[in-house]
Amino acid sequence: MEQSFIMIKPDGVQRGLVGEIISRFEKKGFSLRGLKLMSVDRAFAENHYSDLAGKPFFNGLIEYIISGPVVAMIWEGKNVVATGRKIIGATKPVDSDVGTIRGDFAIDVGRNIIHGSDSVESARKEIALWFPEGPVN
Ligand code: ATP
Ligand code: MG
Repeated sequence: MEQSFIMIKPDGVQRGLVGEIISRFEKKGFSLRGLKLMSVDRAFAENHYSDLAGKPFFNGLIEYIISGPVVAMIWEGKNVVATGRKIIGATKPVDSDVGTIRGDFAIDVGRNIIHGSDSVESARKEIALWFPEGPVN
């Protein structure tokens, strides 16, 4: 079954949105297969966002991700990668529809609460990075 890597970023944890976010994925019908609170270091964050190295916002993005604990999750279900991106909403909160997580809770692209894998291939790589121990069976 398809899986996606979903991460609640430090602002989402600090603002008390963990339960709300988990609830939205649960109510949609997806299954939680991995969950942990983690603090990551610079090298780990740079590895996760390696595709964005060289972007002008890259250093700020890394500082943001290492600024506090994050909640790393594996969610499973039919089309969870694409549907998870819809639940999350567009990258820039000004473009995120109301009813999406970013559309409802964020106003700043640099503090947009949550990450979701952008393809099945990215999900595979990200799950291997964040959950080297593998999913819960
Ligand atoms: P994510 O990978 O975090 O789920 P995304 O796939 O919607 O987000 P990406 O293009 O992968 O968007 O960008 C990764 C993250 O980098 C964004 O979520 C955002 O936090 C940050 N980011 C992207 N564009 C900008 C920008 N123009 N200014 C500041 N931060 C940005
Ligand atoms: Mg992305």
